[in-house]
Amino acid sequence: MTEVFYRVQPDDSPEFSAANAWSALWGSVRSEDGTQTECTSCQEGTREDCSICDGTGWEDCLHGYSCCDTVEELIAYMKQHAVMGDDDRVIVFEGTRTGTGFDGEALAVPSRVIEETTWSEFLTRNT
Ligand SMILES: [Zn+2]
Repeated sequence: MTEVFYRVQPDDSPEFSAANAWSALWGSVRSEDGTQTECTSCQEGTREDCSICDGTGWEDCLHGYSCCDTVEELIAYMKQHAVMGDDDRVIVFEGTRTGTGFDGEALAVPSRVIEETTWSEFLTRNT
C-alpha cells in the first residue's frame, strides 16, 4: 500500500531514492556505502563484549528513510531532534512503509517524489 510521507533530507545525504533509503541515527558515522552506522554502544577496546554490534563496531542501518506520516508530526519531530535551517530540504513523497525507526518515527522506501521544498517554505505553508 502506498502512503504519503514527509521527510527532511540532509544536504550531505546521497540522492533521494529507493536504493539509498537507509536510515541511521542522527549524527552517527556511516560506512562508505551508507548501509551501516558506527556502533555507539561500545568503544574501541571494549568492543569484543558489545552485544549490540557483536564486536564489529558497526550496526546495520534500518531500511527505509526516517520520515513522518503527517505535516504536524514532521514539524514536531524536527523541532525536537534537529536545528533546522531555512534552506533545509523537505521532501513529500509516496512510498511503502517498511518499519519503525530509532525514535518511533515511520520508515519508508520512496516510490515517487510528490514535491520538494525548503523548511521555511514548508513552515510558512503549514503553520
Ligand atoms: Zn558495539
